[in-house]
Amino acid sequence: MKTGPTTIEGMSRLIESKKAEWAKPNSVYRTPEYRRKQVLSHKGQVLCSNQRHLLSAECLTQLYLNEKFTQREIAVKLNVSPKTVSRRMAELGIAARSSKVSGEGNPAWKGGRIEKEGYIMIRMPNHPHAKANGYVYEHILVWEQAHGQPLPEGWEIHHDNEVKSDNSSQNLIAFANHRKHLKIHMAKYKLNKEK
Ligand SMILES: [Zn+2]
Repeated sequence: MKTGPTTIEGMSRLIESKKAEWAKPNSVYRTPEYRRKQVLSHKGQVLCSNQRHLLSAECLTQLYLNEKFTQREIAVKLNVSPKTVSRRMAELGIAARSSKVSGEGNPAWKGGRIEKEGYIMIRMPNHPHAKANGYVYEHILVWEQAHGQPLPEGWEIHHDNEVKSDNSSQNLIAFANHRKHLKIHMAKYKLNKEK
Protein backbone atom coordinates (compact mmCIF):
# COMPACT_ATOMS: atom_id res chain seq x y z
CA MET A 1 0.00 0.00 0.00
CA LYS A 2 1.24 3.46 -0.92
CA THR A 3 1.49 5.96 1.93
CA GLY A 4 2.47 9.61 2.07
CA PRO A 5 5.81 10.88 3.37
CA THR A 6 6.27 10.40 7.10
CA THR A 7 9.30 12.65 7.69
CA ILE A 8 9.78 16.41 7.38
CA GLU A 9 12.43 15.81 4.71
CA GLY A 10 10.13 13.52 2.81
CA MET A 11 7.36 16.10 2.99
CA SER A 12 9.52 18.97 1.75
CA ARG A 13 10.82 16.77 -1.10
CA LEU A 14 7.20 16.11 -2.09
CA ILE A 15 6.34 19.82 -1.91
CA GLU A 16 9.38 20.69 -4.07
CA SER A 17 8.39 18.13 -6.69
CA LYS A 18 4.77 19.33 -6.73
CA LYS A 19 5.46 23.08 -6.79
CA ALA A 20 5.66 23.37 -10.56
CA GLU A 21 2.37 21.51 -10.95
CA TRP A 22 0.60 23.61 -8.32
CA ALA A 23 1.86 26.83 -9.86
CA LYS A 24 0.19 26.12 -13.20
CA PRO A 25 -2.21 28.99 -13.81
CA ASN A 26 -4.97 26.82 -15.21
CA SER A 27 -4.92 24.03 -12.68
CA VAL A 28 -8.44 23.43 -11.42
CA TYR A 29 -9.07 24.26 -7.80
CA ARG A 30 -10.97 21.46 -6.16
CA THR A 31 -12.88 22.12 -2.98
CA PRO A 32 -11.56 19.74 -0.32
CA GLU A 33 -13.99 16.94 0.53
CA TYR A 34 -14.77 18.20 4.03
CA ARG A 35 -15.80 21.61 2.72
CA ARG A 36 -18.03 20.30 -0.04
CA LYS A 37 -21.70 21.02 0.31
CA GLN A 38 -24.51 20.11 -1.99
CA VAL A 39 -28.10 21.14 -2.37
CA LEU A 40 -30.27 18.23 -3.46
CA SER A 41 -33.54 18.48 -5.32
CA HIS A 42 -36.63 16.78 -3.89
CA LYS A 43 -35.78 13.79 -6.09
CA GLY A 44 -32.32 13.57 -4.55
CA GLN A 45 -30.37 14.83 -7.55
CA VAL A 46 -27.49 17.23 -6.96
CA LEU A 47 -28.96 20.62 -7.79
CA CYS A 48 -25.80 22.52 -6.98
CA SER A 49 -22.65 22.26 -4.95
CA ASN A 50 -19.94 24.63 -3.89
CA GLN A 51 -17.47 23.14 -6.33
CA ARG A 52 -16.87 26.19 -8.44
CA HIS A 53 -18.07 24.88 -11.76
CA LEU A 54 -21.32 23.77 -10.13
CA LEU A 55 -22.25 27.18 -8.75
CA SER A 56 -24.09 27.30 -12.02
CA ALA A 57 -26.64 29.59 -13.58
CA GLU A 58 -29.22 26.82 -13.20
CA CYS A 59 -28.45 26.40 -9.52
CA LEU A 60 -28.55 30.09 -8.68
CA THR A 61 -31.66 30.65 -10.76
CA GLN A 62 -33.43 27.90 -8.86
CA LEU A 63 -32.32 28.98 -5.38
CA TYR A 64 -32.29 32.74 -5.77
CA LEU A 65 -34.96 33.52 -8.33
CA ASN A 66 -37.39 30.61 -7.98
CA GLU A 67 -37.09 29.66 -4.32
CA LYS A 68 -36.33 33.22 -3.19
CA PHE A 69 -33.46 32.35 -0.86
CA THR A 70 -31.26 35.31 0.02
CA GLN A 71 -27.62 35.43 -1.09
CA ARG A 72 -26.65 34.91 2.54
CA GLU A 73 -28.85 31.81 2.86
CA ILE A 74 -27.37 30.34 -0.31
CA ALA A 75 -23.86 31.05 0.98
CA VAL A 76 -24.62 29.16 4.20
CA LYS A 77 -26.15 26.25 2.28
CA LEU A 78 -23.05 25.90 0.13
CA ASN A 79 -20.42 26.80 2.71
CA VAL A 80 -19.06 29.69 0.65
CA SER A 81 -18.89 33.38 1.48
CA PRO A 82 -21.81 35.65 0.52
CA LYS A 83 -19.28 37.54 -1.59
CA THR A 84 -18.63 34.42 -3.68
CA VAL A 85 -22.35 34.09 -4.32
CA SER A 86 -22.80 37.75 -5.28
CA ARG A 87 -19.69 37.71 -7.50
CA ARG A 88 -20.89 34.56 -9.28
CA MET A 89 -24.35 36.09 -9.76
CA ALA A 90 -22.82 39.21 -11.25
CA GLU A 91 -20.75 37.04 -13.62
CA LEU A 92 -23.89 35.22 -14.73
CA GLY A 93 -25.90 38.43 -15.06
CA ILE A 94 -28.44 37.51 -12.38
CA ALA A 95 -29.74 40.79 -10.96
CA ALA A 96 -29.63 41.01 -7.18
CA ARG A 97 -32.81 41.94 -5.39
CA SER A 98 -32.43 45.29 -3.73
CA SER A 99 -32.17 44.76 0.00
CA LYS A 100 -34.38 47.81 0.43
CA VAL A 101 -37.41 46.20 -1.14
CA SER A 102 -37.10 42.64 0.14
CA GLY A 103 -38.26 41.26 3.47
CA GLU A 104 -38.96 43.64 6.32
CA GLY A 105 -38.05 46.69 4.24
CA ASN A 106 -40.86 46.05 1.80
CA PRO A 107 -44.13 47.83 2.60
CA ALA A 108 -45.93 44.69 1.38
CA TRP A 109 -44.05 42.51 3.93
CA LYS A 110 -46.50 40.83 6.28
CA GLY A 111 -44.06 38.99 8.48
CA GLY A 112 -43.69 36.16 5.99
CA ARG A 113 -47.39 35.29 6.10
CA ILE A 114 -49.48 35.27 2.92
CA GLU A 115 -52.89 34.06 1.81
CA LYS A 116 -53.20 31.88 -1.27
CA GLU A 117 -56.55 30.66 -2.59
CA GLY A 118 -57.97 30.85 0.92
CA TYR A 119 -55.06 29.01 2.56
CA ILE A 120 -52.53 30.66 4.88
CA MET A 121 -48.86 30.19 3.98
CA ILE A 122 -45.80 30.96 6.09
CA ARG A 123 -42.35 31.77 4.71
CA MET A 124 -40.02 28.89 5.61
CA PRO A 125 -37.80 28.19 2.61
CA ASN A 126 -35.93 25.34 4.32
CA HIS A 127 -39.00 23.36 5.31
CA PRO A 128 -39.30 20.02 3.46
CA HIS A 129 -42.87 20.91 2.42
CA ALA A 130 -41.96 24.42 1.22
CA LYS A 131 -43.31 25.31 -2.21
CA ALA A 132 -41.10 26.82 -4.89
CA ASN A 133 -41.85 30.31 -3.53
CA GLY A 134 -40.38 29.40 -0.12
CA TYR A 135 -43.75 29.26 1.65
CA VAL A 136 -45.33 26.34 3.54
CA TYR A 137 -49.02 25.82 4.23
CA GLU A 138 -49.70 26.83 7.80
CA HIS A 139 -52.01 23.83 8.29
CA ILE A 140 -49.00 21.54 7.70
CA LEU A 141 -46.97 23.40 10.34
CA VAL A 142 -49.81 23.29 12.87
CA TRP A 143 -50.42 19.58 12.25
CA GLU A 144 -46.71 18.78 12.57
CA GLN A 145 -46.46 20.72 15.82
CA ALA A 146 -49.60 19.12 17.27
CA HIS A 147 -48.44 15.59 16.39
CA GLY A 148 -44.74 16.08 17.09
CA GLN A 149 -43.72 14.58 13.77
CA PRO A 150 -43.20 15.69 10.17
CA LEU A 151 -46.13 15.19 7.80
CA PRO A 152 -45.20 12.07 5.81
CA GLU A 153 -44.64 12.40 2.07
CA GLY A 154 -47.88 12.17 0.09
CA TRP A 155 -50.16 12.83 3.06
CA GLU A 156 -52.81 15.53 2.82
CA ILE A 157 -54.51 17.63 5.45
CA HIS A 158 -58.24 18.21 5.46
CA HIS A 159 -60.02 21.14 7.12
CA ASP A 160 -62.89 19.51 8.96
CA ASN A 161 -65.18 22.57 8.94
CA GLU A 162 -64.18 23.30 5.31
CA VAL A 163 -62.79 26.72 6.28
CA LYS A 164 -59.39 26.66 4.58
CA SER A 165 -57.94 29.37 6.80
CA ASP A 166 -59.09 27.80 10.11
CA ASN A 167 -55.87 26.12 11.16
CA SER A 168 -56.74 25.31 14.74
CA SER A 169 -55.29 21.85 15.32
CA GLN A 170 -58.65 20.21 16.12
CA ASN A 171 -59.87 21.31 12.68
CA LEU A 172 -57.07 19.46 10.86
CA ILE A 173 -57.31 15.82 9.84
CA ALA A 174 -54.47 14.10 7.98
CA PHE A 175 -55.12 11.51 5.29
CA ALA A 176 -52.44 9.12 4.05
CA ASN A 177 -53.15 9.88 0.41
CA HIS A 178 -55.21 12.00 -1.98
CA ARG A 179 -57.77 9.25 -2.65
CA LYS A 180 -58.65 8.92 1.04
CA HIS A 181 -58.86 12.68 1.35
CA LEU A 182 -61.24 12.89 -1.62
CA LYS A 183 -63.55 10.29 -0.06
CA ILE A 184 -64.51 12.58 2.79
CA HIS A 185 -65.28 15.39 0.34
CA MET A 186 -67.43 13.05 -1.75
CA ALA A 187 -69.28 11.84 1.35
CA LYS A 188 -69.95 15.41 2.49
CA TYR A 189 -71.06 16.39 -1.00
CA LYS A 190 -73.58 13.52 -1.09
CA LEU A 191 -74.83 14.41 2.36
CA ASN A 192 -75.44 18.02 1.35
CA LYS A 193 -77.33 16.93 -1.79
CA GLU A 194 -79.68 14.70 0.17
CA LYS A 195 -80.53 17.49 2.57
ZN1 LIG B 1 -60.21 18.53 2.45
